[in-house]
Amino acid sequence: MGYKIVCLNCRKAFSNNRGFNNNFGKCQECGETFVYYNHKFRPPKRNNIKAWSVVKFLQQNGFIYQHVNDKYVKTRQYGYYTYTVYPKSMAEAKEFVIKFTK
Ligand SMILES: [Zn+2]
Repeated sequence: MGYKIVCLNCRKAFSNNRGFNNNFGKCQECGETFVYYNHKFRPPKRNNIKAWSVVKFLQQNGFIYQHVNDKYVKTRQYGYYTYTVYPKSMAEAKEFVIKFTK
């Protein structure tokens, strides 16, 4: 399954690790340690500073676009959790972190 290598400092995302095998997990441009996101992560446009600040805020709080359980849904035979949708704005992100940090 694909994943994305992201430099939150440069606001860049790369798919998989093609060409980035020899840099010890650090950005060649700024030296910042990369963050690894799963394929669900949709990187904002580079000039969308606000959107990237939300991504960074979530990452600092331990949310790296992994599945987060939301509501428990019961069916006749079994139950399951739905996954949350990741917030887009900083206000939503702050609520999200409070709600889902255990
Ligand atoms: Zn960088």
